[in-house]
Amino acid sequence: MEDLRSLSFDELTDKIKEMGFPAYRAKQMYEWMHVHLVRSLDEMTNIPKDLREKCRENFLFTALEIERMQESQIDGTRKYLFKCADGSLVESVFMRYDFGNSVCVSSQVGCKMGCRFCASTLDGWSRNLIPGEILDQIYSISRDTGERVSHVVVMGTGEPMDNYDNVVRFIRMLTDENGLNISQRNVTVSTCGIVPKMYDLANENLAITLALSLHAVNDEKRRTIMPVAERYSIAELMDVCRNYFDVTGRRITFEYSLIAGVNDSKEDSDALARLADGVMAHVNLIPVNPIKERDFVQPTRAAAESFKYRLEKKGISATIRREMGRDIDGACGQLRRRRMEETSC
Ligand code: SAH
Repeated sequence: MEDLRSLSFDELTDKIKEMGFPAYRAKQMYEWMHVHLVRSLDEMTNIPKDLREKCRENFLFTALEIERMQESQIDGTRKYLFKCADGSLVESVFMRYDFGNSVCVSSQVGCKMGCRFCASTLDGWSRNLIPGEILDQIYSISRDTGERVSHVVVMGTGEPMDNYDNVVRFIRMLTDENGLNISQRNVTVSTCGIVPKMYDLANENLAITLALSLHAVNDEKRRTIMPVAERYSIAELMDVCRNYFDVTGRRITFEYSLIAGVNDSKEDSDALARLADGVMAHVNLIPVNPIKERDFVQPTRAAAESFKYRLEKKGISATIRREMGRDIDGACGQLRRRRMEETSC
């Protein structure tokens, strides 16, 4: 059965009409689900009982349960672990910034990309999330905190370009004026570099930011930390980045996890500057978040600063990502993994 909350406004309108009800009922229902963020048909008090009944017979209404929540004592960042209807666990993060509240959502249950430094991939991939499940990460957090969410990053567990149709639909629904109406400019999608899908994304007419997880400046080194580099070369990645900028006018962000002794030398910085310059990219440096299953080490703060300074001297705009929620299993996928370990022993 289809999920009611994964239907776009137009699709919902068609379905409601097919069931013999007027179109304005779809508008009301869409508003209940995507503005008032209700979790069941029962809460839609001005919708006739027979329509609610028909919807119950014909559709699923997926809602995530909060399995666990941890709040950072340092910066108020909250990590949520959600349970889907089938028991799958999904992790999301709520962060408070000066510019507004941001939620980092997961796009898949687990991940098959195998990046060496990432905890999300250690247990492999089990399934794609549907739009309603990605939306509900934001809706549940908004309800739980009572605060408005203005920014969304698709940077949690999973590879969004490996779940392309659901992720694009999610973005359209999130930024739909009939729903939460979040500005497309405030949405970032991060990919490890699935080249054909990045070409497709450029043609979706979305004003979002695309972030590429680059992490290494040549193919040989990239292959040692990211298996996806066996499939797509850095030259192909730079072509698709240039195309994205040409078609959308939106600057790409390069994400670059700094790993001591692996990719943080002066030569790395200079080569990264050349790549970024070639495609007008902004560089976001992320001191690698050590995970216990691997022995990757963060460079010192001074080393990260000097890496950034070398980029800036070459005219590249660069930032070092502020670490949020250090005290609450900061690194991607760690909370979910810890919970799975607890329940399996
Ligand atoms: N699959 C997507 C999005 C999820 S990961 C992608 O690869 O972009 C979000 C970002 O966090 C990516 O840049 C990823 O490489 C990075 N990341 C994952 N684990 C990390 C760690 N332990 N330390 C620092 N960055 C990490």
